[in-house]
Amino acid sequence: MVRQKKNEISGNVIEKIGPITLPLATNNSKVVNFHLTLYRIDNRNYHVLVCNPSVPSDIVLLRIESACTFAHLYGSKLCDCEQQLKTSLSMIGNVGGILIYALDQHGRGVGLVNHVRVYQVEQTGIDTVEAHKTLGLQIDARHYMDALKILHDMKISKIRLLTNNPSRIDFFRNHLEHIERLPLEHPLNPYEVRELMIKKEKMGHLFSFKSDFDWLLDINKSHKVLLPFAVIENSISRIFGGDLISLIEFLKNLRLNHEVFYTIYCSQEMSSPAKVKKLILLIMKENLTSHYLRIVGCKEIDLDKFKGLYNLAVRAGFLELKCIKLK
Ligand SMILES: [Zn+2]
Repeated sequence: MVRQKKNEISGNVIEKIGPITLPLATNNSKVVNFHLTLYRIDNRNYHVLVCNPSVPSDIVLLRIESACTFAHLYGSKLCDCEQQLKTSLSMIGNVGGILIYALDQHGRGVGLVNHVRVYQVEQTGIDTVEAHKTLGLQIDARHYMDALKILHDMKISKIRLLTNNPSRIDFFRNHLEHIERLPLEHPLNPYEVRELMIKKEKMGHLFSFKSDFDWLLDINKSHKVLLPFAVIENSISRIFGGDLISLIEFLKNLRLNHEVFYTIYCSQEMSSPAKVKKLILLIMKENLTSHYLRIVGCKEIDLDKFKGLYNLAVRAGFLELKCIKLK
């Protein structure tokens, strides 16, 4: 039997198609049955995925995810959408809850076409906020009125919202009986770190990292790096160590057009201007200079000795060279 319901809430026609059952592989490779209903509100589409709580609770774990084809279809690392969706499904799969997937709010609500345009502008070196302004787009064009209507339809008034976005929290705080926030964070990767810093600094998103090298600090604590250097590709999962040649190979293999923060962790052994100069010259030779390069020194590093290298780095075409003293 096909169930289809239409009703009206606050003047909007709400059409419901489903539910269907989808067995989804969550992060921990467990397969969990989710019940999906397609909600259409004045022709705007939402997948509402429900996984029943194992412990009945009147506070519902909720994630509202905006569509992002780059991350959700292809696993693009330029934003955190893939991780956010996976983590949310996995948490909801574990304890029960609801995920509302806004199919028509692509790229913070600017739509499929503009999302490509925004990336095109961003890839000339302009940050996401300025790129939206350049194109005359709202920086965040999403709205949550439809999600609220879906919650009303499901008779939900108390939520535990998975989000880092303060405007969502404010919206639901003004419209629901009870709201709690659960942060949604994961170990950063170098491809997304720039966008997430902009989100934190210019859009007020509630990330726990304080600066763009903050994500190194845990590694510093947990790994006493005594290698000549380590290239940290992902803040927790992968640390490469070795000699300069394997470092250059690693950078070349990334084959990226987008700006990336390369962070090179130098141990005391490596922390001499002569060695860093050699590294810069090697990277120049390989034409890998149109990227951000961070050289992070150990505690004993004498930053004054590195000053002379800044001019060399600028001439070489590095967008940025920083020697940072870890505390
Ligand atoms: Zn995305």
